[in-house]
Amino acid sequence: MRWSQFYLHTTREVPADAEVTSHQLMLRSGMIRKAAAGIYSYLPYGLRALNKLTAIVRREIDAAGSSELTMPAVAPAELWEESGRWEQYGKELLRIQDRHGRDFVFGPTHEEVVTDIVRNDVRSYRQLPVSLYQIQTKFRDEIRPRFGLMRGREFIMKDAYTFHADEASLDEAYRGMHDAYCRIFEACGLDYTVVEADTGAIGGSSSHEFMVLADTGEDEVVRCAGCGYGANTEKAETGSLPAPPAANADQGPDAEAQDVATPGLATIPEVASFLGIEPSQMIKTLIYTSEEETPIVVLIRGDRTINEIKLAHALGVRFPVLADDATVKRITGAPVGFAGPVGLAEGVRVIADHSVKGMVGAVTGANQGDTHRVGVTPGRDFEPTAYADVLLAAAGDPCPRCEGTLELFRGIEVGHIFKLGTKYSEAMGCTFLDAEGKSHPMLMGCYGLGIGRTVAAAIEQNNDESGVIWPLPLAPFEVLVIALNPQDEAVVAAAEEIYQGLAEAGVEALFDDRKGRPGVKFNDADLIGVPLRVVVGKKGLAEGNIEVSRRQDREKHMIAQQGAVEHIRGMLEATTTA
Ligand code: ATP
Ligand code: MG
Repeated sequence: MRWSQFYLHTTREVPADAEVTSHQLMLRSGMIRKAAAGIYSYLPYGLRALNKLTAIVRREIDAAGSSELTMPAVAPAELWEESGRWEQYGKELLRIQDRHGRDFVFGPTHEEVVTDIVRNDVRSYRQLPVSLYQIQTKFRDEIRPRFGLMRGREFIMKDAYTFHADEASLDEAYRGMHDAYCRIFEACGLDYTVVEADTGAIGGSSSHEFMVLADTGEDEVVRCAGCGYGANTEKAETGSLPAPPAANADQGPDAEAQDVATPGLATIPEVASFLGIEPSQMIKTLIYTSEEETPIVVLIRGDRTINEIKLAHALGVRFPVLADDATVKRITGAPVGFAGPVGLAEGVRVIADHSVKGMVGAVTGANQGDTHRVGVTPGRDFEPTAYADVLLAAAGDPCPRCEGTLELFRGIEVGHIFKLGTKYSEAMGCTFLDAEGKSHPMLMGCYGLGIGRTVAAAIEQNNDESGVIWPLPLAPFEVLVIALNPQDEAVVAAAEEIYQGLAEAGVEALFDDRKGRPGVKFNDADLIGVPLRVVVGKKGLAEGNIEVSRRQDREKHMIAQQGAVEHIRGMLEATTTA
C-alpha cells in the first residue's frame, strides 16, 4: 500500500477526552474516529489491525470445532420476552420499534437468537454437541462509555455458544474454548491471566475471565503466586483473616461490654483514634436495602469493605444498596454512624462476614446517638442470623487455596467464558430426546471475546512516548518503507523496488512515498508503530546500503540493497518465532 493513496491521517494533538494511552494513540495514529460517545468509525489503518485479530480468532475458534454463522444484529423482542431478559436487562439494552410499532432489540449478546435457531434444528442427543460462533457488532448502552474501543457502546465481539446433552460434554467444550482463548491471546503477544469470575446478569454456574494486565484496566483481580489461584475481586475468596486482639484487653478477657460516649464521632477512623485502637478492632454495622425492601443488617470487620456482588449472592437479591438515613434510624434507633449488632429489634436479619466471627472484645455502635459499645464479643453478646462471605479481598490477604498471599492487579477483561447450564434452554424450550426418548433441556456454554477491546489492550501494553509498538501478529503492516529524499530519482526507484519486492514476497508493506520532510516521516513512523522500518536515503544508497530498524528498540542496521527483501523477510521470520 502506498501512503499517498492510503487514507491515513495522523495528528499531533492529544484529544482532550482521551484518558488512556491506547485511546490517545488510536486517535492520533488515524485508526479510529468518534461519531458519538462510545460509537466509532474504524478507519483503514485501525481496521487492518482488527482484521488481523479476527483472522487469528477465526483460526483458533474454527480449530476448536465451532462453526461460524452470522446472526441478525436486530432481534425481535419476543425472544427476549421468552428468556425473561426483556424485563431484566435494564438500560444497557437498546430497544427499538419498527414502523408497525413492533419491539426489537439491537443485540448486546445473542443467547436468545442462537437458542431459537438450535431448538428448531436439533432434536436428538445424536445431534449434540453443537458449537456456533459469530464475529459481529453489538450494542450496549453503557452508562459510561470511555477509553475509546475499550468500553464502547457499539463494539465488535466474537461470541460463541455451545449446546450439550450432558455435563461432561459441556466441560470438554468449555476447556476447548479456554485453551483456544489462551492461544489467541498468546498469538497477540499479550501478557494476560485467567481468573475466576462472577457470572453477573448473563447467569450460569461457572465462569472465567481473561485479563490483560494494565494499570489503566477497569477490573481488579487477585492472584496467588503460590498456587496460581486467580479471581476477579468481584468474586474473589480469601483464607480466614487472623483475629485482631481485643479492644478491651486491659480489662481482662471476660470483661463485659459497656457503653462509652463518642460525641459527634460517627466514622470508624474517628472512633478508633479517639479510643486509641485500630479500625480492625471494631465491627462495622451497615444497613442494606434491596429490591425486596426489607432492610438487612450486615457486619464486617472495621477496617474492611463489603463486596456488594458477593453480598447480593449471599442475600439472594439483585441490587443491595446502603439504606437511607431514615431507614437506618428506624432499624437502629440511632442516627447514621452509631449502629451496632447488640439490642436490635426482634426479627431483623443480621448477616455477619466471616471476618467478624473470631473477634473478641470489639467496639461497635450502641444503637444510640453519640455512643459506642466497647467489649462486644460475637456469640456471647449477639448471634447473627447467619455468617457469610461478603468480604472484598485485598492485597496481602491469605490465599483461600494454599498458604500463600494474594496480590492485587488491575486488568482489562478481554474475554469471558461461561457455563450457562439450562437457564436459556429451559426458559425457551430448547430440548433434546435422550437414548430412551426422554426430553431434557440442553446444557449451554457461551464464550465472548472483545475484538476492539483486545486490540486496544494490545496497544495499552505495547507503546512508548513516541507511539504504538505493534506486536507483529496484530500489526496493520509488517514493514514500513520510507523514501527519505522523494525528490531524488535513484532513491525513489530503489525504495519502489524494495516495496514491490516485499509485496511480491507476500509481505504487508506500507510505502511512505509522500513528498514530506524526513522529520515528519520519522515521527509518523514512530507514532503508527509498524514493527520493521526500512529507510532508503541518498547517502546509504551511494554505498549500496539501506537502513533497517525494529520499532521495538529502534536500533539501526545498514544492510546491502542487494538481497534486502530476503534479509527483511528473515528479520520478520525471526520476530515471529522469537
Ligand atoms: P464488562 O464487565 O467489561 O462490561 P461484560 O462482562 O459485560 O464486560 P461480556 O458480556 O462477557 O462482558 O462480553 C464479552 C466480551 O465483550 C468482554 O470480555 C469484552 O472483551 C467485550 N466487551 C463487553 N462490553 C464491551 C464494551 N462496552 N466495549 C468493548 N468491548 C466490550
Ligand atoms: Mg458489561
